[in-house]
Amino acid sequence: MLLTDPANIFYFTGFRGSAGVAYVEGPEAVLWVDPRYTLQAREQARGIEVVEVRTGLIRFAGRWLRRGGRQRVGYEDGHLSCRDFLQLRQEAGKTVTWVAEGKIGRALRAVKDEEEIQTIRRACAITSKVYEEVLPRVRPGVKELDVAAEIEYRMKREGAEAPAFETIVASGSRTALPHARPSSKLLENGDLVILDLGAILCGYASDLTRTLYLGRPERRIRRLFQAVQAAQLKAIQGAEPGVEARRVDMCARRVLAERHLDKFFTHSTGHGVGIEIHEDPRIAKLERTKLRAGHVITVEPGVYLEGVGGVRIEDTLLVTPRGQEILTGASKDSWILE
Ligand code: ZN
Ligand code: ZN
Repeated sequence: MLLTDPANIFYFTGFRGSAGVAYVEGPEAVLWVDPRYTLQAREQARGIEVVEVRTGLIRFAGRWLRRGGRQRVGYEDGHLSCRDFLQLRQEAGKTVTWVAEGKIGRALRAVKDEEEIQTIRRACAITSKVYEEVLPRVRPGVKELDVAAEIEYRMKREGAEAPAFETIVASGSRTALPHARPSSKLLENGDLVILDLGAILCGYASDLTRTLYLGRPERRIRRLFQAVQAAQLKAIQGAEPGVEARRVDMCARRVLAERHLDKFFTHSTGHGVGIEIHEDPRIAKLERTKLRAGHVITVEPGVYLEGVGGVRIEDTLLVTPRGQEILTGASKDSWILE
């Protein structure tokens, strides 16, 4: 199997560079990198043959397969570009039969081992800690971008390598945009504020969202918040081994439907978290994958009302043999900042 997706190359070899091609056959693996990454690859991909290539990785890989007389080779159809695939096919020649195997890496990565769980646990702990530390700075007159910068600075000071994604800080009516980018808007009294943050630690991500309110919320905002909180709790409780992912999604959707809010819940309930911030299993309407102990997923229902704002609450959790454990322990109840 030829690997081109950096997330899978990291998973199978330990190499974390942004460019490289690996070939895995039985217990053997070889990793091809360009000269920028030779030293790093030797250091990170322990026990794996590292070859420096100066003539184009794809071209080299194709010729290597041809020389070695390989006949059936898997490739990552969800990742390899059409151009690279055409070149690979041309260089490898007619004796190689290409088999699309884009799902294997993702499927293996979905269930985490003990070491991976410990790393994600620590990434989640950093994220929760930073969230609580930043709370006092979430107040009227502060810019969304400044809150985001503070979060990312503190995550790095706590040992994170990088944010797992562009930190979301959205306030007021901008909270109705599920993936709002932080702007120069100032937080104001009477604003809903959504903070969505995650850290990368040793190559593994975490994901946490909290919604806050600046001032004294009117009743409809309280109801909105309570509905999302109830939906999230129900979905978390529903996440157990043996349960189909779509059932967890349905738990959240049903609670919101009882309050006529389901049509404002416009995304899926959650996603797997690991080397990538969004990975398998998806916690979505049509997802029949059964949850297993070792899955790390998010549960993040949200409701978004144009012109009013949005509420989303998200935790990263570990599916355990008996149920689930929340890894992002940051408080959810103190959401009103008066
Ligand atoms: Zn998130
Ligand atoms: Zn998420």
